[in-house]
Amino acid sequence: MNNKLAIVVPCYNEEEMLPITTKELGDVLARLKGKGKIAEDSFVLYVDDGSKDKTWELIEGFHAEHDYIRGLKLAGNVGHQFALTAGLVTACEDADMLISIDADLQDDTLVMEEMIDKYAAGCDIVYGVRNDRKRDSLFKRTTAQMFYKLLAAMGVRTIYNHADFRLMSRRAVESFSQYKETNLYIRGIVPMLGYQTDCVYYERKERVAGESKYPLNKMLSLAWNGITSFSVKPINFVMTIGVIIVAFSILAAIYALISYGTGHVVAGWTSLILSIWFLGGLQLFAIGLVGQYIGKIYLEVKHRPRYQIEKKLD
Ligand code: UDP
Ligand code: MG
Repeated sequence: MNNKLAIVVPCYNEEEMLPITTKELGDVLARLKGKGKIAEDSFVLYVDDGSKDKTWELIEGFHAEHDYIRGLKLAGNVGHQFALTAGLVTACEDADMLISIDADLQDDTLVMEEMIDKYAAGCDIVYGVRNDRKRDSLFKRTTAQMFYKLLAAMGVRTIYNHADFRLMSRRAVESFSQYKETNLYIRGIVPMLGYQTDCVYYERKERVAGESKYPLNKMLSLAWNGITSFSVKPINFVMTIGVIIVAFSILAAIYALISYGTGHVVAGWTSLILSIWFLGGLQLFAIGLVGQYIGKIYLEVKHRPRYQIEKKLD
């Protein structure tokens, strides 16, 4: 039977959440094992993303106490996307299907069964999709919606309202691990893999303990990565604006020449100074934007390892 499940959970300073998470995921595994849907040796893999609190000590404790808990300690904080990648790549050596979920269990563990049923029916990737955002603050809701729309406009394929709660088969994770980019946006890569996919729908809950490890600046940088790592449309956009402005200034020059020829007063200092400032600003913006991409190329060509594993508990 190819139904050994690994639940991969990235954890950063989650000491308040872990006891609750361990209990709930243990119950989920027991229920699924009871129904014969997953193998008896299915497990949970906690990835400690360089936490500064007692997260790793707790993981060691739970590992000693329960045989379904495994741990992976990264040598430093590399961020949610890399921690998750480390967990997926490590766990896929020893599992047939992998479900990634956040430590705070805001995503509904009840739909895991549906995910596994879809895997059994032949899907390689099953996305968990939130069917409403009632519980989010108005700010998070509107910014998230704007972000998904923007991504779509930029031509990036993403699944609307899907975060990183998903099931992937071993071979899907193996394919995913071949994407060696440093500017990692997992949600953008997975839809590019292909394979048979499906979605399950759930209502996202509130965090019950601890606080969000995704402050606004991390959210913005993830969003920025999502756009610039997958799309060159911003560069095209700047080029188009450049072309339009050049065309416009040619028209303006013709107009100025005609008015000069017909004896009208030539526009003075104000308009000159304004256009210098405007064009200067625009050029700086364009250079900055191009620089963003060059910065990314610089990081990619280094092919640095994306995480270091310090300890592993099997
Ligand atoms: N996380 C991580 N490394 C980080 C930040 C967050 O591994 O640098 C983990 C965190 O422990 C949690 C998940 O990523 O399991 C999502 O974080 P959180 O729930 O705080 O984000 P939110 O739901 O508020 O967007
Ligand atoms: Mg959360």
